[in-house]
Amino acid sequence: MAQLLDGARVRDEIKAELKPRVDALRAQGRPPGLAVVLVGHNPASEVYVRHKIKACEDLGIHSETSRPAESVSTDELLGSIDQLNARHDIDGILVQLPLPPQVDSKRILLAVSPEKDVDGFHPCNVGALVAGLPGPRACTPAGIIEILKRYQVPIAGRRAVVVGRSDIVGKPVAMLLLHEHATVTICHSKTRDLAAVCREADLLVAAMGRPAMITADFIRPGATVIDVGTTRVESRGEIARIFRHSAEKLAAFDKRGGLLVGDVHPLDVAETAGAYTPVPGGVGPLTIAMLMANTVASAERRSGK
Ligand code: NAP
Repeated sequence: MAQLLDGARVRDEIKAELKPRVDALRAQGRPPGLAVVLVGHNPASEVYVRHKIKACEDLGIHSETSRPAESVSTDELLGSIDQLNARHDIDGILVQLPLPPQVDSKRILLAVSPEKDVDGFHPCNVGALVAGLPGPRACTPAGIIEILKRYQVPIAGRRAVVVGRSDIVGKPVAMLLLHEHATVTICHSKTRDLAAVCREADLLVAAMGRPAMITADFIRPGATVIDVGTTRVESRGEIARIFRHSAEKLAAFDKRGGLLVGDVHPLDVAETAGAYTPVPGGVGPLTIAMLMANTVASAERRSGK
């Protein structure tokens, strides 16, 4: 059986390392401050933000959430972000995506001061990533590198295949793997013979949002597989198919009305890979840990540490 790469364990390690840094900032004058902007009532966004706030509370990071209405305009949001940019006590600004369709998301992300951009999405910080200069890195990609390193999975010289080319996961994780000296291939929906390309990977990162699509025939035996995907599957038949009629999974489905499924087939990966991140409990916890790390680092930079 493959080794399970436990994201919750790594998250706890990261948080334990951050705690004394938060305490030192607090002793110096004030704790780090994170402002979250959550527009409307998207249920998934509400859950993500709740977890982020909880992580701040655990560490003693000041957090505050503003909740503009679903009907908010781009100009109104730009005004709120300007105010947060000017606040001395706010080190990180996080605009929870997705934003409603009438809002120009690109203008909003551009408006966040790059030094407070704890998501690492601002083009200045994307440029810093590409150039290998210091700056906040996108949280999910940074978390993937962190778990690989902490489990001492070798990266240098290995073949890495990233499936997905989004600005928030696929592209930045590919760049980080390149900086770690992997030989990187990026795949997407137009890639021909995806399974064959994936089978070349020593390190396979799946970030498509297609539940259980990466089956055994995509995985080189012994490869390390990182599953970024998180899709809530609400079809009982689909859950029965994916989990081969597991009574335990079907009972969990019946209780909750849906289950989170990654992009990698959960049974195939356990039988084929050398090591893998589970869903849930793999990449998800790391994303929040790296958001905390970016917020603390921003507070340290801004306090001149
Ligand atoms: P996205 O913006 O929708 O991008 C998906 C990417 O996957 C696109 O590049 C798309 O290709 C590619 N793709 C889609 N179907 C494909 C297929 N059949 N074959 C090959 N490539 C395919 O998604 P995202 O924001 O990167 O997120 C991806 C997944 O990760 C989602 O499930 C999301 O919920 C999850 N996620 C999890 C975390 C976490 O903390 N755990 C964080 C972020 C995202 P094209 O470019 O050609 O369309």
